[in-house]
Amino acid sequence: MLYNTYSKKEEEFTPLKPGIVTMYTCGPTVYGRPHIGNYSSFLMADLLRRWLEVGHGYTVTHVKNITDVGHLVHDADAGDDKVQKQAEKERVHPLAIARRYEGEFLEDEQALRIQEPAHRPRASEYIKEQLAMVKILLQKNHAYETEDGVYFSVSTFPRYGALSGNTLENLSAGARIEVDEKKKHPADFALWKKCVGENGMHVLRWSFASGDVSTSEGEDPSSGFPGWHIECSAMSRALLGEQLDIHTGGEDNIFPHHECEIAQSECSGKSPFVRYWLHKRRIDLGDQKMSKSLGNVLSISDITAKGFSPLDLRYSFLSVHYRTNLKFSWKGLENARTARRSIVEWMNTPLTPDAKGRDSTDDVSAFSARFADAMDDDLNTSAALAAVFDCMHWSRSVNHSSATLDALQAFTAVVRDTFGCFEAEEETVPANVLALAKEREDARARKDFSASDRLREEIRAFGFEVRDGGGEQTLRKL
Ligand SMILES: [Zn+2]
Repeated sequence: MLYNTYSKKEEEFTPLKPGIVTMYTCGPTVYGRPHIGNYSSFLMADLLRRWLEVGHGYTVTHVKNITDVGHLVHDADAGDDKVQKQAEKERVHPLAIARRYEGEFLEDEQALRIQEPAHRPRASEYIKEQLAMVKILLQKNHAYETEDGVYFSVSTFPRYGALSGNTLENLSAGARIEVDEKKKHPADFALWKKCVGENGMHVLRWSFASGDVSTSEGEDPSSGFPGWHIECSAMSRALLGEQLDIHTGGEDNIFPHHECEIAQSECSGKSPFVRYWLHKRRIDLGDQKMSKSLGNVLSISDITAKGFSPLDLRYSFLSVHYRTNLKFSWKGLENARTARRSIVEWMNTPLTPDAKGRDSTDDVSAFSARFADAMDDDLNTSAALAAVFDCMHWSRSVNHSSATLDALQAFTAVVRDTFGCFEAEEETVPANVLALAKEREDARARKDFSASDRLREEIRAFGFEVRDGGGEQTLRKL
């Protein structure tokens, strides 16, 4: 069962084609280093994909895009392009910005052991596909041209608002959207922005007629760049077809982004565009949402600088159900580290079979069934991990036959492949911890034991234990 944001209920999952799952995840806008809140939604998509593969044997074709053009500030239809704005600030070409932050994003994803998708399309490399879709929408009168762009006409799509609840009726009652006299309806959104007015200086631009890169300003008055939403509709269609099994994103994407994707895709192709919509709830820091615009963000390097492994963060995020708001705290991350390491140690310490040991393969099957049932219950990871911990305690309490140990090994392999954070890691000691250890060695040499104790505590705060023995101190991960 998966909770479908579109139907607002849990549904049995069956893919369109037996054995094969098509899945699209809205990727990052590469204008800065993503914060850990952004990764929580990518981790959730990774977990879902792994469970479909490991738990059900599906072949998942996963697409995750890179937004390198067209995402305007505040997800709006006016204002600056996020990548362009950063490029102006750093005085470099927008694509230099995009590629740099894409590189950092990929490094972070690797550190978090997020699996590589089948495709990572870049918006700037699918301009012709986006324009083809815009032209179909114009032809079918779902779109119209204004002096500054081409807009989707929301009143031509009666299901607009079905995903987010922001129907035209609700929108006109509220004040979530600004009135723009050039648009027919305030909720109409940009499919194409012309390089005129406030976007006159936009560097990345293409000819509307041909889709080719447009270099000389003013040559083609409709040259411009695509709106943000259209890229996901066009790239998912190009790579996965007109209908997708699963589309994931953060809850921030529900409106306007995903609502608009549905409108564009369904007005130019088959319905439903997506069969299961899944959204990750946000991460809070203290009592506030973690967001770049609020300036209260943490990056992966902030996590590792404090001595945590990126896999501690992975465990911490995955151990809480994806439809629960998670409040990030360092204490919570410490607890996650302790829990994760206890599982890692258990999984990587071989148990010896006992010839007289009990054959308890049925018990292992019961733990394994509990784990699978929990994962099938809309990825109920906390219940799934509870089964893992119960199995761990049980396995240590009795002696087992070799058949039982084989069953245990098969079960732990499933858990490991599903969660992706229980492999034994090489113990690399970060430079700051090594420096503290050196300081402590010096303190001990001059018999300053209070300093030595204080440094031991400081080192401990970074996740390492100091052991003194044989006249030497050694470091061990907690
Ligand atoms: Zn998207």
